[in-house]
Amino acid sequence: MGFQVVNPADGSVVSEYELAGPAEVDAAVARARSAYADWSRTTPAERSGALTRLAGILTERADEFARVEVSQTGKPIRLATEFDVPGTIDNTAFFAGAARHLEGKAAAEYSADHTSLIRREPIGVVGSIAPWNYPLQMAAWKILPAIAAGNTIVLKPAEITPLTSFLFEQAAVDAGIPAGVVNVVAGRGPVAGTALIEHPDVDMVSFTGSTAVGRQIGATAAGAVKRVHLELGGKAPFVVFADADLEAAAQGAVAASLINTGQDCTAATRAYVARPLFGAFVDRVAELMAGVRLGDPTDPQTDLGPLVSFAQRDRVAGFVERALETGAKAVTGGSALATKGAYYQPTLIIDAAQDSEIVQDEVFGPVLTVLPFDTDDEALALANDTPYGLAASVWTRDVHRALRGSRELRAGCVWVNDHIPIISEMPHGGFRRSGFGKDMSAYAFEEYTQVKHVMLDLTGVAAKPWHRTIFS
Ligand code: NAD
Repeated sequence: MGFQVVNPADGSVVSEYELAGPAEVDAAVARARSAYADWSRTTPAERSGALTRLAGILTERADEFARVEVSQTGKPIRLATEFDVPGTIDNTAFFAGAARHLEGKAAAEYSADHTSLIRREPIGVVGSIAPWNYPLQMAAWKILPAIAAGNTIVLKPAEITPLTSFLFEQAAVDAGIPAGVVNVVAGRGPVAGTALIEHPDVDMVSFTGSTAVGRQIGATAAGAVKRVHLELGGKAPFVVFADADLEAAAQGAVAASLINTGQDCTAATRAYVARPLFGAFVDRVAELMAGVRLGDPTDPQTDLGPLVSFAQRDRVAGFVERALETGAKAVTGGSALATKGAYYQPTLIIDAAQDSEIVQDEVFGPVLTVLPFDTDDEALALANDTPYGLAASVWTRDVHRALRGSRELRAGCVWVNDHIPIISEMPHGGFRRSGFGKDMSAYAFEEYTQVKHVMLDLTGVAAKPWHRTIFS
């Protein structure tokens, strides 16, 4: 019997497959290495054309991608059809354009005796590892900039959600991208993942997942001096100043903490609210959370699906239980639903200590904690007081507060009066223990290239002027 992909909405088996081990990883890296010779020599226009065709195929197959993504993750179909799939298509179209925009400094005689020019070259075979929360988008964020820049790639999706990565690999072949340019191997992290990052023929490692695993991957990559790109965990603060639009902030907090059942690395997890607004904010958030409809993810009316797995549901429940045992209170939610799926109620926590686990650690579930503050200095200090730095938001109508928050919050993205939206042209990536490197945007494209300086002698003489340093 193969490995079972389970639908967390009802525990049914969606599909079975054989887990990849070191031999399958080895074969995939060999395919990627062999495809690299030709793919790295394609013109930007050829790669752009291939990605444009891929965007077309993804558009034609949008319904299938959405349906399969819902079945393996339990996310609501509305989210898959309005966010995951169109976002992936737009990313593909963006990198089709980016492939033709390699940039560098002007070739020139920076030294009077030489012409210098910059080449931007692909890196080689990229080994990527992705998490289960947005399987399709994570696959796309890894594959697209890598192949747009002329690399080939072996992607290891999370073993519990590999299905849309397999569909993406097939779509790439159907778009005319040569076999071996995009390779998907699904297996367990410590087996297939380790084999991939340790493989001597993998030139770059690109990882999205937890900070704990990212730390190990970074250490392995450093040992082999491989380029590494780490998109890790988050614990995004959501700062509501006293002058904020309370209704906008409350709606924003509910949407941004519950999106994808809270399994979003940028989800709002810690709201800090100016004391005069605190009570009204808590009441309104609790009211809105109580109105969110949990249910069958395939029903377009469903707002919130289950967590990705029963293990993840139990992990979330453990965080909340420990918080409640140590003095925090659940204003709404606080327990799993007694159904056959891995559902957990939208949960609003107050009275937690700033240094408690529920405030400091990544829960990755539909749980928001709210804490009051008295001064702007205190709010920004509390917001910066976790090891993470992926995303943050400030809610205010005061331009000075907005600018101060955007400067002082230590995060790779700061929203003002919103929280969650992303866009293909703009980078996504962390500060501090949320990792380094950017996904999406021209910044991601650059990460998958290396810069070479070519310096050509202009003098044509044997005894060059600088030889004076040796030949007095
Ligand atoms: P995870 O770190 O447990 O696993 C991520 C991937 O790494 C999976 O494919 C897994 O099989 C693999 N893996 C696990 N152990 C490994 C090992 N020892 N060697 C090699 N590979 C290994 O994370 P998860 O639970 O799948 O995903 C949730 C995490 O991902 C959260 O921390 C979340 O914040 C993070 N995330 C970050 C971003 C971002 O852009 N920064 C985006 C999405 C998710």
